[in-house]
Amino acid sequence: MISTKKDIDWSSLGFGYVKTDYRYVSNFKDGKWDEGFLSTDETVTIHESAGVLQYAQTCFEGMKAYRTVDGSVVCFRPDLNAQRMADTCMRLEMPVFSQERFLDAVEKVVKANLDFVPPYGSGASLYLRPYMFGTNAVIGVKPAQEFQFRIFATPVGLYFKGGVKPISLRVPDFDRAAPRGTGHIKAGLNYAMSLHPIVDAHNQGFNENMYLDSKTRTNVEETGGANIIFVTKDNTVVTPKSDTILPSITRRSLMYVAEHYLGLKAEERVVPFEEVKTFKECALCGTAAVLSPVGRVVNKDEEIIFGMDKMGEITQKLYDTLTGIQMGRIDAPEGWIRKIK
Ligand SMILES: *Cc1c(COP(=O)(O)O)cnc(C)c1O
Repeated sequence: MISTKKDIDWSSLGFGYVKTDYRYVSNFKDGKWDEGFLSTDETVTIHESAGVLQYAQTCFEGMKAYRTVDGSVVCFRPDLNAQRMADTCMRLEMPVFSQERFLDAVEKVVKANLDFVPPYGSGASLYLRPYMFGTNAVIGVKPAQEFQFRIFATPVGLYFKGGVKPISLRVPDFDRAAPRGTGHIKAGLNYAMSLHPIVDAHNQGFNENMYLDSKTRTNVEETGGANIIFVTKDNTVVTPKSDTILPSITRRSLMYVAEHYLGLKAEERVVPFEEVKTFKECALCGTAAVLSPVGRVVNKDEEIIFGMDKMGEITQKLYDTLTGIQMGRIDAPEGWIRKIK
């Protein structure tokens, strides 16, 4: 295994693909998964009529490995990624890759790419992308019978350029594109349909979209790739309750942190867009975005300003506590940190 230190400028890393040495691969055929292996080949060759290419039968997860204050390498709640991927697979008629195999694959891929885990304090981390797709030829509308599960690793810095400065959102004319009822799965099909709204938002000078529910177009859902939290004037942390958004692990963790570490009230409930102007703070949350403050939301002629110059006070406390737990500076709740090395 390669063990030379990689020549990477960790501080200038954005959120992009950097090729690492090894990726994990396992194939599903004749009703079972093979034992899996580490590969140096970053390319995939599949049939021209593969289920993933014709009917988008594919899903993914996103998680990170961090170097902690004592030099260990850890993952944050990977069991929840395994569980969510299993839920997604069942909804997409794909075979589940068991939690035990998933955690083992994560460990193997991180250990094989240890030199790509950014140093403590750099602000960067090793992003892990587990994913699965149908590989055999299908032509009638039906599930594939052969699948590939892979995990690649890539070092990443901040998701939004400019760091943790506030970003601006707009409420689009587009629906959060997931076909109704599938917003809770983490899959490419939810993303493909959000690409046009994102490009359109960028063209209009916004970083992302704040989608409303597609049924009534009155309640806040999420953005293209992150959930949303708000802080009320009396410091209650509020996050939208909806069956059509992705159940973010970061958000679940932040709600716990708000309640149990910061002693704040934390509520998951329906949030009408009408209420947004009454909040004091707003932020996006997700593995990639961590916690990114939202400074401004525009809905047609209405502009709501939270403040474009810095992170709100409660958002900052949530950010410091969550990243403190992830980096080993603050004691984690039981089971949140899985040590790899
Ligand atoms: C991945 C994702 C999130 C964030 O989930 P985490 O588990 O916190 O990374 C939020 N919304 C969507 C649509 C996502 O795909």
